[in-house]
Amino acid sequence: MQITEPFIQTLTNIGFCSIDVLRLDKVHNIVSGNKWYKLQYYLQQAIQQQYSAIATFGGAFSNHIVATAFACQQLQLKCYGIIRGEKPQTLSHTLMQAQEYGMELIFLSRTDYAAKNIFNLLPTNTYVIDEGGYGKLGALGAATILQKNEIEKYSHIMCACGTGTTLAGIIQTALPHQKIIGIAVLKGYENMNNDVKEILPSQFWHKPFEINHQYHFGGYAKKTKELISFMNSFYMQQKIPTDFVYTAKLFYAISDLINTHQIEANARVLALHSGGLQGNLSLPKGTLVF
Ligand SMILES: *Cc1c(COP(=O)(O)O)cnc(C)c1O
Repeated sequence: MQITEPFIQTLTNIGFCSIDVLRLDKVHNIVSGNKWYKLQYYLQQAIQQQYSAIATFGGAFSNHIVATAFACQQLQLKCYGIIRGEKPQTLSHTLMQAQEYGMELIFLSRTDYAAKNIFNLLPTNTYVIDEGGYGKLGALGAATILQKNEIEKYSHIMCACGTGTTLAGIIQTALPHQKIIGIAVLKGYENMNNDVKEILPSQFWHKPFEINHQYHFGGYAKKTKELISFMNSFYMQQKIPTDFVYTAKLFYAISDLINTHQIEANARVLALHSGGLQGNLSLPKGTLVF
């Protein structure tokens, strides 16, 4: 599967700081953002070890589900999406798209999903990828995100965090002088710090990083009017679309941390635009100006 190399866009009108955005949302129109990077080594291993199918987990609006479905179609791998919750009357746009790419959807009640009760649901020779691509191979894949970029000049590297797998990749590539900050989009995921460490190779266990829990806006996929209006003005000013689940919260956080001087005035920030724009399709029409 082919992706385009991401480019870096410098934000305008943001005071003394300099903010560059790595446009991972532009690497591919379907498997955009961080998801392809996280999937690459899992899929490679599944093929090498001759698994006959792939299965993974996600909710009804999961970018990871669509990305997996598409990647598997490209690689001609049979794939299953294990979806949290009972089958709805009408499928979300995300799930319809995944189905179009040939993913077979299996709906699990929230209790069975939480317990990962999947025995007997899948053929025996199925390679199972954790929800959101969480895991050591996912982090190793995410570590390739910054490998081709000149990152020396940055003082801060920042990204939005769901499972923290992308952050675990960044920790492996960032240089010692750089501050690594993840913005948590889930509410109360206090254990994320440990879950990130869990998937890091041991030589990185002592590398400092920070997860900021102040910008979840009520929790996963929750939003406020303020967040939506930020997305619109950010787009009008920078011509960069964001999604309300992840990247809007990241850019809001960056702007707020700068305004409140928690990020110092002469900082040079590199922010990862991790994609996920399809998530906005669940918003009522007219909510966004882009
Ligand atoms: C999945 C996703 C993330 C979260 O990545 P993790 O590696 O799970 O922390 C961030 N941004 C977007 C747009 C995503 O789709």
